[in-house]
Amino acid sequence: MLSAALVFGSCSKQDKDIANNPLVKECKTPFGTTPFEEIKPTDYLPAFKYAMKIHKEEVKAIIDNKDTPTFQNTIVAFDFSGELLYKITGVFFNMTAANTNDEMQKLEVEIAPMLAKHTDEINMNAKLFERVKKVWDNKDKENLNQEEKMLLEKIYKRFVRSGALLSKDKQEELKKVNGEIKTYESKFSANTLKETKSYELVIDKKEDLKGLPQWLVDQAASTAKEKGKAGKWIFTLDSPSVFPFLQFSEKRELREKIFKAKNNRGNNGNESDNKEVIKKLALLRAKKAELLGYKTYADYVLEERMQKTPKQVYTLLEGLLKYSIPAAKKDVAELQKLLVKDYPGATLEAWDWSYYADKLKKQKFNFDEEETRPYFEINNVRQGCFDVITKLYGLTFTERKDIPVYAKDVQVFECKNGKNEHVGILYWDPYTRASKVGGAWCNSFREQYVKDGKKVTPIITVCFNYAKSPSGRTTLTAEEASTIFHEMGHAIHGLLSNCTYISTSGTSVPRDFVELPSQIFEHWCSRPEVLKMFAKNEKGEVIPDALLKKINSVGTFDVAYGMTERYAAAYLDMEYHVLSSKDKINDVVAFEKKTMDKIGLISQVPPRYRSTYFSHVFTGEYAVGYYSYVWSEVLDADAFNAFLEAGDIFDKTTADKFKNEILSRGSTDEAMNMYVRFRGKQPSIDAVLKNNGMKK
Ligand SMILES: [Zn+2]
Repeated sequence: MLSAALVFGSCSKQDKDIANNPLVKECKTPFGTTPFEEIKPTDYLPAFKYAMKIHKEEVKAIIDNKDTPTFQNTIVAFDFSGELLYKITGVFFNMTAANTNDEMQKLEVEIAPMLAKHTDEINMNAKLFERVKKVWDNKDKENLNQEEKMLLEKIYKRFVRSGALLSKDKQEELKKVNGEIKTYESKFSANTLKETKSYELVIDKKEDLKGLPQWLVDQAASTAKEKGKAGKWIFTLDSPSVFPFLQFSEKRELREKIFKAKNNRGNNGNESDNKEVIKKLALLRAKKAELLGYKTYADYVLEERMQKTPKQVYTLLEGLLKYSIPAAKKDVAELQKLLVKDYPGATLEAWDWSYYADKLKKQKFNFDEEETRPYFEINNVRQGCFDVITKLYGLTFTERKDIPVYAKDVQVFECKNGKNEHVGILYWDPYTRASKVGGAWCNSFREQYVKDGKKVTPIITVCFNYAKSPSGRTTLTAEEASTIFHEMGHAIHGLLSNCTYISTSGTSVPRDFVELPSQIFEHWCSRPEVLKMFAKNEKGEVIPDALLKKINSVGTFDVAYGMTERYAAAYLDMEYHVLSSKDKINDVVAFEKKTMDKIGLISQVPPRYRSTYFSHVFTGEYAVGYYSYVWSEVLDADAFNAFLEAGDIFDKTTADKFKNEILSRGSTDEAMNMYVRFRGKQPSIDAVLKNNGMKK
């Protein structure tokens, strides 16, 4: 145990320094929260080094134990080892995301490889694995409960999947393959960045800006100025530039130009072309899987997911494409009618879609998203979100001014249950600032677990990047409000966790399951009865029914394009990872075309990412993982239907079941088992199709 290790016998200066290090010493802050005001950037490196040393000693103690390896003395001991290191890692990486500076960034460059090396050394420790394997081999004699079984499997597999069972030769070969994969992934990433950043569409005639909103024109003018072309307008392949250009530009030939540039990234036959990189990567990954005893890389990855086999993923995608492609074809026909009014005899192309869909939407619904903004004041949205959580799960949130924060405008809330017992801490960090990276996320400083029979409570943080209004009344779009519900869905998954071990608790669940708690929670934010709880304008007037009706009527307009492009991309991801190392891809472009023809994709809807810039897949993180976005939508729609079927989105029985079987369970059981216990059946794709008007 780590606190016990903090005994300083012979007190050198270094020992005293580390004993006083605010990241290491026991703090007097409430609930063991971080004493941010005491921490200086120079405290991190010594704290990390000390915590790694302690972690190594803890692992050594497990290995040196003379007793026969058991679940308790090996698996549980290993799960609890590194507690101090996790605590420091939690603080450090939350700060490099939410409140960074040059000094912290430099530290990150130094610390990240140190940590990676430390983890590798432990995961490849043969003596440690020997003990873990003994416990695994004798698991039937230990009478383990389900959570214990899951923990044992998780830890055993972590070693095996890194090659612990292979002969020395094969281990060397695997290391080499891993190294090559890393090299090509980095190359893919660098090439894609270069191909995205090097392109510019320079406009020098005002008439070529026709249709563009003023903010976009201003943005393009300032980009041009930055790039030394003042007086002109520059559009780039960055999303905030290219997508609105495609949506608003009246110049068809310019839309075509920028669209083709976007779609041909990494496919230009220059030094940043990705086609050869893809060929190498697909086959190296196949090789890795084969070395580890799997048929394909997809089999290797999916083993740890909710969707266990390539066949299951294909069935999912084909089932959805069967509905989304015909729906997209119907939309083509409608958009085509608008196009020929402008260009008689022309055929709708991919670069026309966004532009004509936007036109049609305005014609049909006369709806401007800005109309709802006055009703979504950020603090009201947060409170509305808290109130929904109270109604569903009995949790309450009270602001604590006595808990240190790391930046201005960060608020801290204590979360309690219906019995007024402490559940956990929530940091709420809503606004953008120079020291914060972009986007929205939920993370933890500390996961929930049980130590020495006592519950260690979770410390969760949610971060957003909303622009704070100087007026003091910051308002959001409906989509931004929905993002608050999304991240708070992750937060309650962490807060309601009721598990024993660190590795099985909270949000440490399979990638294709982790978005269920967040995405299902978005549904409440779109319900009229919930909006009426918190959507009020400056005068305190509740959002009018007419506006709610309008929002509702836009509902499923133009959904087929987005669905189809996502499913097609997920299909493409799969096709590269069911190859064997003996297969050969002769031509990446032809491979992609053959795949898209197989599913009957239409030319107006290309896959969301084409192979040569599909970074999710070819830079590592989301290989055989793009489908999980699709699967999560299926899960959240099916799960929310349980509330609808109960006739009340606040139905107590359903909410209790969702809490007891899913939100509190971490990964203490197979995700599908937990889901079926909640829903009484496996999820089906029907709900997602019905919600999008593709099935009755
Ligand atoms: Zn999420």
